[in-house]
Amino acid sequence: MQVSPIVLWFRQDLRLQHHPAYEAAKATGQPIIPLYILDDDSTNSWKIGAAQQWWLHYSLLSLNKDIEAQGGQLILRRGNPTEVFESIFKESGAHNIYWSRCYEPFAIARDTQLKKDFIAQGINVKSFNASLLFEPWKIQTQQGQPYKVFTQFWKRCLAQGPRFSTFEKTPPPQFYTHLKSENLESWELTPTRPNWAKGFSDLWQPGEHGAQQKLEEFMAHHLKNYKETRNLPDKYGTSRLSPHLHFGEISPHQIWQRVHQSSSLTSSSERYLSEIGWREFSYHLLYHFPSLPERPFQEKFAAFQWQHNSHALEAWQKGQTGYPIVDAGMRELWHTGWMHNRVRMIVASFLTKHLLIPWQEGEKWFWDTLVDADLANNAASWQWVAGCGADAAPYFRIFNPILQGEKFDPEGYYVRQWVPELKNLANTFIHKPWQASETELRQAGITLGNTYPHPLVNHEAARKLALESYRQL
Ligand SMILES: Cc1cc2nc3c(=O)[nH]c(=O)nc-3n(C[C@H](O)[C@H](O)[C@H](O)COP(=O)(O)OP(=O)(O)OC[C@H]3O[C@@H](n4cnc5c(N)ncnc54)[C@H](O)[C@@H]3O)c2cc1C
Repeated sequence: MQVSPIVLWFRQDLRLQHHPAYEAAKATGQPIIPLYILDDDSTNSWKIGAAQQWWLHYSLLSLNKDIEAQGGQLILRRGNPTEVFESIFKESGAHNIYWSRCYEPFAIARDTQLKKDFIAQGINVKSFNASLLFEPWKIQTQQGQPYKVFTQFWKRCLAQGPRFSTFEKTPPPQFYTHLKSENLESWELTPTRPNWAKGFSDLWQPGEHGAQQKLEEFMAHHLKNYKETRNLPDKYGTSRLSPHLHFGEISPHQIWQRVHQSSSLTSSSERYLSEIGWREFSYHLLYHFPSLPERPFQEKFAAFQWQHNSHALEAWQKGQTGYPIVDAGMRELWHTGWMHNRVRMIVASFLTKHLLIPWQEGEKWFWDTLVDADLANNAASWQWVAGCGADAAPYFRIFNPILQGEKFDPEGYYVRQWVPELKNLANTFIHKPWQASETELRQAGITLGNTYPHPLVNHEAARKLALESYRQL
């Protein structure tokens, strides 16, 4: 008698190692159908952005290669998951589905409904945790409430300690090989004309192997100085694992264990793990406050008088604000699909406080252009910078883009890399070209207003206006 196969539905867990659902499926000895669905739900306002489509394409290629090496094939289907599953059940006779949990509000709603429908049809569903150290509902205050302050949240997490699945030696996988897959190329996930992603592959290798390589490189060369260099955008000081974490090509458990294995904890490794903690905190917030991507966490900010200025928004998006560190960040984002964390804070502060443009506009732009765009991290971070989030920087803390540039890019290497029209300007003026004399500008080949813009707003005036708007609130 033919044994009924198990559908292993891959979503944000595009790896084979340390994969609880895959291990559980293998342990049954039943044939596995590895499935990825490109969900075209038009009602979901957070559909995957353009930069992440590029990433997804290569990540699926990599996953398929690994599955093929084990004797199977990743089955690709496009469409509404209910309809896709109906035909998969019909074609294969499967009545088991395993998946790793997702925590985005639309994913929770979709999965809850699917589970209900499947159970009614006699289909068995098992879900697993593959992407968080702590399930959001497992960390609570003594009053049984979600945490709203990071330090208290992380202290509680550390006291509780993460739980690890032990991966006992499972038998090699059996695959069900009678299903047809759609052709990945036909999904057209990568850009063609213009190919704005041509710089991406210099920096990124999507997929599980790329993730492991990044982790090993970070462990070998950068972790020891992480605490000192993590804020310097011209240095390779951080792990650059964010897109890999987002797509589940590596899990925080693997990172946690690798860091603990390497040596006794140092202040740098503790600091690094606490950044993974910020990721956990963002998911905790998104789970308990599902309107986080759309509405201010602090209700009073709903009445804030934001300005809607499409000219200024476009200048910010294109890296043409006249503030070199802001422009460098926005151009790094466009060329690489990533931006250094310190610079993300500076550009976000500039948008929300100097330009008074709603944080949701910045969030949307990041969503489309970041390869690591992540609903939880992006929403929580934008709200944090805008001052309206949980445990947020107070609104009146307005980053000065000149001083931030001088402090974190003192030699101007970062600015020169991404804003080459300023490359011949002396360090003294690299973060404030408008203060250079006519002669200095001419010698550096710069004509303000022509080769590089005048500042979009005056820092001091913008700061006063922002504080005034805040006071009115
Ligand atoms: C306005 C703004 C928007 C952001 N949007 C995103 C986003 O869409 N996706 C995203 O993954 N991160 C986002 N971040 C957080 C942070 O900038 C990135 O996670 C980090 O720069 C990724 O680089 P890394 O992997 O080298 O980080 P590392 O310093 O090596 O940190 C390791 C991991 O910890 C997590 N992490 C680090 N800092 C944070 C943080 N502040 N909040 C939550 N998790 C963190 C990430 O998963 C990261 O990969 C945003 C920050 C700001 C200020």
